[in-house]
Amino acid sequence: MSDTRPLAQTAAPDTPRVVRLQLWLPLGMVLTALAILCVLLVVDGGRYIASLQQFADRTAHEELLRTRRSLEAALRRTDGSSLDGLVTGLGLDRAVRHAALVDDAGAILAATRLAWKGGAAPQLIPDYPQQAARQVLQTQREALELSIAGQRLTALAPVTLGLRPGELRATRHGLLLIEYDLSPLARQALGHLLQQALVFGSVLLLGALIAVLLARRLILRPLQVLQQGLARIGAGDFTHVPRLRGRGELRELADAMARMAAELQARSAALQDSEARYRQLSDAAFEGIVLHEDGVIVDGNAAAERLMGVPPGSLMGRDLFSFVAAHDMPIMRQRAQQGEEGVWSVDLLDHTGSIIAAECSVRQRSVGGRTLRVVAVRDIRERLAAQAEIRQLSHVDALTGLPNRHALLQQLAEEVARDGLPGRRAALAVLNLDAFKSVNDSLGMAAGDLVLRTIARRLSAALVPGQAVARINADSFALLISGLQGSLEQASATAARAVEGLLAQVAQPLHLPEHEQVLHLSAAAGVVMMPNDSREPPELLREAETAMHQAKQAGTRVQFFAHALQQAASARLLLRNDLRQALDGHGQLLLHYQPQVDRHGQILGVEALVRWQHPRRGLIPPGEFIAEAEASGLIVPLGQWVLEEAVSCLRRWRSRADELPWARQLSMGVNVSPRQFRDNDFVARVQDVLACVGVDALSLELELTENVVADDLQATLEKMAELRRHGVRFALDDFGTGYSSLSYLKHLPINTLKIDRSFVMDIGAPVQDGGSGGKSPSVLIDAIVAMAHQLDLCVLAEGVETPSQLARLVATGCDVFQGYYFSRPLPEDALVAWAQAQAGKASAQVQAVVTGP
Ligand code: C2E
Ligand code: CA
Ligand code: CA
Repeated sequence: MSDTRPLAQTAAPDTPRVVRLQLWLPLGMVLTALAILCVLLVVDGGRYIASLQQFADRTAHEELLRTRRSLEAALRRTDGSSLDGLVTGLGLDRAVRHAALVDDAGAILAATRLAWKGGAAPQLIPDYPQQAARQVLQTQREALELSIAGQRLTALAPVTLGLRPGELRATRHGLLLIEYDLSPLARQALGHLLQQALVFGSVLLLGALIAVLLARRLILRPLQVLQQGLARIGAGDFTHVPRLRGRGELRELADAMARMAAELQARSAALQDSEARYRQLSDAAFEGIVLHEDGVIVDGNAAAERLMGVPPGSLMGRDLFSFVAAHDMPIMRQRAQQGEEGVWSVDLLDHTGSIIAAECSVRQRSVGGRTLRVVAVRDIRERLAAQAEIRQLSHVDALTGLPNRHALLQQLAEEVARDGLPGRRAALAVLNLDAFKSVNDSLGMAAGDLVLRTIARRLSAALVPGQAVARINADSFALLISGLQGSLEQASATAARAVEGLLAQVAQPLHLPEHEQVLHLSAAAGVVMMPNDSREPPELLREAETAMHQAKQAGTRVQFFAHALQQAASARLLLRNDLRQALDGHGQLLLHYQPQVDRHGQILGVEALVRWQHPRRGLIPPGEFIAEAEASGLIVPLGQWVLEEAVSCLRRWRSRADELPWARQLSMGVNVSPRQFRDNDFVARVQDVLACVGVDALSLELELTENVVADDLQATLEKMAELRRHGVRFALDDFGTGYSSLSYLKHLPINTLKIDRSFVMDIGAPVQDGGSGGKSPSVLIDAIVAMAHQLDLCVLAEGVETPSQLARLVATGCDVFQGYYFSRPLPEDALVAWAQAQAGKASAQVQAVVTGP
């Protein structure tokens, strides 16, 4: 069955074997009929022999006996005249071929053929059974000899003969031989046999014929119908599913097939539906989508056809790589062969052979045992053009027409890529105008712009080959010098000369006709030499900028970048970034509170001290990040957070005033950094926080350092006065470490003076020359306390660690004490616990010290 080939290909070893019924069914039936016929013939043949034997057994035997008896009777009548008659009479029987009476000497006494009489039997009688004759004579028993082949039966019987006259023997024996001709009997049996075979044969053949016809009608025909039905289903025609009448296995098969067809129809409808949807989806896509197998396109959407400029439906079967530009072909083939997936830029060719810059995203999928690659192609020509335009625009500084920071970074990247070459050096300088802000502020933006344009023109004009200049931000320019020769020293010297040349250009008087003014500008520059450890352009730029800031701070015109400087700068940068994240609210910042107690150990207030729970570095004390926060301006939000948190904490304690009686009058000290204090909104913010949280301003004591005050006395005074009007109190922190000018103290609205820890630490220490101007710390403290009391200031001693320090400070007249001797700064809950425990015993402790020796 050639139709079943696909099945046979996947057949398991125990799959049943089938044959061609149309051939084998009739052939089998005919062969079966013939086989039955043969069996019948064999059975009949056996029966024919059996009938001969039966004949021999019965007929011949009886006749023999009868004839023998008659013969013996005739012989007893002595005359023997009737003997011939008797024997000859046997010949009348049609079955008898011949008969003879033979004496023991073998002489024929009488025979059916008269001519044999008197002759010798072995010679005359054909096929005379001499052996059997002798045996009959000896045993005196009759014998039958059947020859099927000769179709004859020879019957032998002993006969007692009368003595002839003169014979002396008591008796004489002879034998009677009768040979029967069996051929008529055989003919008759054979005829019978043939007739029977004929009848059987024709019946069988007829049966076979009918069986074949029935098989054709009941099996082969329905099978054919089923087969045609299957073929139609296979071709997708589910409407002409064959039906069979009656019942039986084929009917069940047909029903199963009908069910299968219905199922298939439903599935194929669903499939068609989803395929239509898929096609709509893929056709609606902006991207060209192509499926290929080993480069041969299996499917492609409308966008792909449009992209390639081919008629609809004509992508199928084509070689995908014929659409890839020659220079991209090898790599694309290699990726396809290695089954790589990814997104790549590739140049395609449309039907006219023009190049389409495209981006293709390739995925590989296994579908029904086939490996298909799905390629989504996007035409990126417009995007590239736009990018090129943006790049062009984004590389030029609009104001001066110089390359901008971006362009400089790119040029730097190219320089870095080249700096593997031996002896090749380059330098990057950043120039920043001094006090440019004041030009803007005093003369206006237009004048500022004019200044920048003029400087840019001068710098460009001063360039020599190998140098490039860029404007990298408002008042900063960068100079890139490549191709420097010689040792690092020589190259640095050359670079320094070039930079100084540009600084000289900046320093040229600048006329502003509109303002009738001549400006004398200056600038400072930082230089970084290449190659060095830094290979990233932004990093190099940062190094040059760091050096430039150094130059400004040091008051030098040109400063070269040193590496240690950079490390500290980058550590600071990292810290700054982390701090910025911490401020975004990740619960990393927290406050600890350190008690401030009176001479009796009663808690009067606490100082809020910030801590930073860093995710990698653990708990960081404020000394490690406040300075950076200050430098970066992050201190403003940080200080704001501290203020809000500290005031909220005070509010929480106050709300539990019943349990925590010490909290009722408690003051909250909050450190305020100079930058934070200078912030324009500072006063408003403090007021807002107090109002929002609902804590009275009297409880808040802002701690300022002398720097704050010294920076800008007038502005400071105004802000302090404003806050003071609202009730906020002030403490002067770290007193004695800064300007230590007591003169301004009387101008400031301060409530508390906090004597710096270093004075307290030195109590009891020997007097050091130059240390405190030759005075002992205790004397200094005495002076400070006396002076402060004159000004009506409360005096707080910081960093009290020992009982003797405390005793001395009490003796001096200090009012409030803060230090590890009482408690370290504690988390909110621990502070509550401490204050509760302390409430009772503190006074006794202080009392003991005060009244001590
Ligand atoms: P400060 O304002 O002088 O704070 C007192 C510092 O001395 C605290 O250090 C405190 O833990 C420590 N201290 C207190 N008693 C003793 C003592 O008996 N012995 C010794 N050796 N030290 C004692 P901390 O918390 O590390 O703060 C250091 C500095 O960080 C503060 O000095 C303050 O200037 C600044 N700071 C802390 N929190 C803030 C804040 O919220 N805002 C601002 N702007 N600065 C803060
Ligand atoms: Ca403080
Ligand atoms: Ca302090």
